[in-house]
Amino acid sequence: MDVVVVGSGPNGLAAAVAMARAGLSVTVLEARPTIGGGARTLDLGLADGLVHDVCSAVHPMAWASPFFRAFGLERRVELLVPEVSYAQPLPDGRAGLAWHDLDRTVDGLGGDGPAWRSLVGALSRSTAGAVGAALGDKRSIPAGLVPGGLVGAARFGLGVLEQGTPAWGVRFRGDVAPALLTGVAAHAITPLPSPAAAGTALLLASLAHAGQGWPIPRGGSGAIVGALVEDLLAHGGTVVTDHPVRSRRDLPDARCVLFDTTPRTLVDVLGDELPARRRAALERYRHGDAAAKVDFVLSGPVPWAHPDVARAGTVHVGGMRAEMAHAEAEVHAGRHADLPVCLVSDPTVVDATRAHGGLRPLWTYAHVPAGSDVDVTEAVVRHVERYAPGFRDVIVASRCVPAAQMSDHNANYVGGDISAGAVNLRQMFARPTAALDPYASGADGVYLCSAATPPGPGVHGLGGWYAATRALRREFGIRVGPLPVD
Ligand SMILES: Cc1cc2nc3c(=O)[nH]c(=O)nc-3n(C[C@H](O)[C@H](O)[C@H](O)COP(=O)(O)OP(=O)(O)OC[C@H]3O[C@@H](n4cnc5c(N)ncnc54)[C@H](O)[C@@H]3O)c2cc1C
Repeated sequence: MDVVVVGSGPNGLAAAVAMARAGLSVTVLEARPTIGGGARTLDLGLADGLVHDVCSAVHPMAWASPFFRAFGLERRVELLVPEVSYAQPLPDGRAGLAWHDLDRTVDGLGGDGPAWRSLVGALSRSTAGAVGAALGDKRSIPAGLVPGGLVGAARFGLGVLEQGTPAWGVRFRGDVAPALLTGVAAHAITPLPSPAAAGTALLLASLAHAGQGWPIPRGGSGAIVGALVEDLLAHGGTVVTDHPVRSRRDLPDARCVLFDTTPRTLVDVLGDELPARRRAALERYRHGDAAAKVDFVLSGPVPWAHPDVARAGTVHVGGMRAEMAHAEAEVHAGRHADLPVCLVSDPTVVDATRAHGGLRPLWTYAHVPAGSDVDVTEAVVRHVERYAPGFRDVIVASRCVPAAQMSDHNANYVGGDISAGAVNLRQMFARPTAALDPYASGADGVYLCSAATPPGPGVHGLGGWYAATRALRREFGIRVGPLPVD
């Protein structure tokens, strides 16, 4: 066998596809009974005919990913574009709305519209700068970034300095635009403001007004996994489920092994095969604050007080900027926030096929301290009720996966850290270590390719792709061309 990939998340599958397409024999070993890691869509048994996205649901990064672009994801999976990419309902009945249409967004933000256009709109006109800066391997200048995207990358960097520091208040005069942007920054699940959260915010906010916006795949995230697996099988690859790799004995002989796992799993499996310094560095890798998932079955749409919020594919339930900063600080200090930041998505906003028998799924998660074993269902319901009175009345069923149990269905989400590693300034670059090659483990033929490597969390497949290109070159002498960045 040429290649074994441990773990079938989007990064593992992207690596496997790249290796199989290079003509190598590839097997993916997955611990769980189902394929796809953080991009699985499953029947949770909550209601007949309904499926739920157990982890990821909304896919701006898949659309923007140079890997998925080269893979032709848009030809293989129908990416449905919500009219409102994301919404931020506010306690007094107002709402921030990031329409897919930038002009409409700017109009809706009144006096802060021009400031939004100069910060977010400028990045969304050409996303090459933000994509190159945020989704690169953090070690080289992405192909295509030179020369046009460099201006965008510089603009992105300046935006991070502004929105990632106490200067984040200088740009806006009102309170809607800051709240709208902070809802996106909160995806990093880290104290606010911070450079890592600002980078997350500027990348995702700029994508909201570009291309496919914040798309939802028809049928759920599992469609992305389906496309990857189909391509892998078509190129001779295989996937074995129910095969956890805990030690070298669980690995068949192969010239090259790629781990779509945590750094800790790599250390546990390889042990003394790793050079001592690299092993120590990997052991210093830090996991971050956490999320607890709550999936609902509803008998009707969420009764948002502001009617346009119902047109959004994603709703950030967190209130004003200061409220979200407070809630994230509480979580970081190890306390449950009274009103935790919650992410909410109703896929039927764009995909009627997700409803069945008058019922629909609702995807939510709330930010909680790492390792929390609290069932947050009531906290989520209470918080959503603040902006959608009557929400409680449309709930038919629900299921919570507390943060502490998140690793039961995916070992990469240690203590509920859905980013597979803290998203902070150090681990934006030194992810998993500060080594020149963040993918090579230091052991012969062994690579790490998960979200614990650059560019970090998200369904983009790029950790897998970057690791695979290095492994192809070093282990097999095969060079593959750079991916396009438009
Ligand atoms: C609740 C939640 C919501 C999210 N929402 C979004 C979103 O809307 N959009 C977005 O872009 N991203 C989102 N994410 C993040 C995204 O899902 C991840 O960043 C992404 O899936 C990481 O891909 P990966 O391939 O690195 O790892 P994963 O997708 O985590 O896959 C890792 C795989 O490896 C397997 N594995 C681990 N250890 C072993 C072992 N020892 N042996 C064998 N197999 C093993 C696991 O079972 C798993 O299948 C979300 C994540 C969660 C949990």
